Amino acid sequence: MVVDVELEPLSFEGDLFSKPIFMAGPCSAETEEQVMNTAIPLAEMGIRIFRAGIWKPRTRPNAFEGVGSEGLKWLQRVKKETGMLVSTEVANVKHVYEALKYGVDIIWIGARTSANPFAVQDIADSLRGVNIPVMVKNPVNPDVDLWIGAIERINNAGIKRMAAIHRGFSSYDKTLYRNVPHWQVPIELRRRIPNMPIITDPSHICGNREFLFDISQKAMDLNFDGLIIETHCNPDKALSDANQQVTPEGLKHILDRLVLRDPDIKEELMLTLAGLRDQIDKLDDRIINLLEERMQVSEKIGGYKKENNITILQTKRWDDMLKNRLRLGSMKGLSEEFIIKLFRSIHQESINHQTSIMNED
Ligand code: PEP
Ligand code: MN
Repeated sequence: MVVDVELEPLSFEGDLFSKPIFMAGPCSAETEEQVMNTAIPLAEMGIRIFRAGIWKPRTRPNAFEGVGSEGLKWLQRVKKETGMLVSTEVANVKHVYEALKYGVDIIWIGARTSANPFAVQDIADSLRGVNIPVMVKNPVNPDVDLWIGAIERINNAGIKRMAAIHRGFSSYDKTLYRNVPHWQVPIELRRRIPNMPIITDPSHICGNREFLFDISQKAMDLNFDGLIIETHCNPDKALSDANQQVTPEGLKHILDRLVLRDPDIKEELMLTLAGLRDQIDKLDDRIINLLEERMQVSEKIGGYKKENNITILQTKRWDDMLKNRLRLGSMKGLSEEFIIKLFRSIHQESINHQTSIMNED
């Protein structure tokens, strides 16, 4: 199950990057002044990697699509005057050549591009023989194999210094987040490629400033390797993603409050934890048995509906059921989001069981 990806540490000129890696800078480079006014305070507070979008993949035409190559000169100035490393997004071969020409230190592949294997392969081919670190954002859809595929394409082109960026996933449903985090996806990525650094992008997950700290803390609690947070000298006036950007002081306020925990479990903690994990295993066992029982009842219902020629889906019943489970769940401290997901999935499984009964000869 473990995917073989050959990696080297994210080091720069012998200087090993220690965890956590903090990257910050505006969503987009807009003007030389805005870039410098953002970069200087970030460098002063110890940020070592500056981010800025030069070419912006926008959902609708006529939105601000980035300043293009001109902005790369501003990144060169950031590098020269602050000593920070500079990074930007590339979405095609032309972007790669321009970024390399202007000495960009790190490039990343955006979420829309990671979802397209042809585009990723073109970028990978253009990077053959180039020694630049590449970060791969998760594709817009929660497909861990597609994410791994993009990572493999870049790695197979000889790129060894890599990281994955978790920026959340699009969803039709309105949720608290702009892009639903689905933490299981980066957790699965870690299981499949254990040595791949994972950097969390709270800005694109949240879409607002309000939850940036919570998502950042959660990333640290999950032992991910760093954060990339959009930072702008005047966020409200930003030409892209204004709602989610923070000022350099705002970023400092977030980073200063972060609690960094120990990923290694000490002996005495291990015992307590083992006891609790044992309880969890037993409870999960009971949940599975209960689900088995529940599906057996569903199958009986399926048989009854078949005999009487009734449709499987009874919308009113499903609606009443969900309302009732939501009420019960909230009394037990279970979030609405969780109950909806859980019962949608149980309901779907019941439908599948009933469908197979209905169509049995
Ligand atoms: C960005 O980092 O500004 C960006 C466009 O991100 P994503 O590819 O995650 O949407
Ligand atoms: Mn952005």
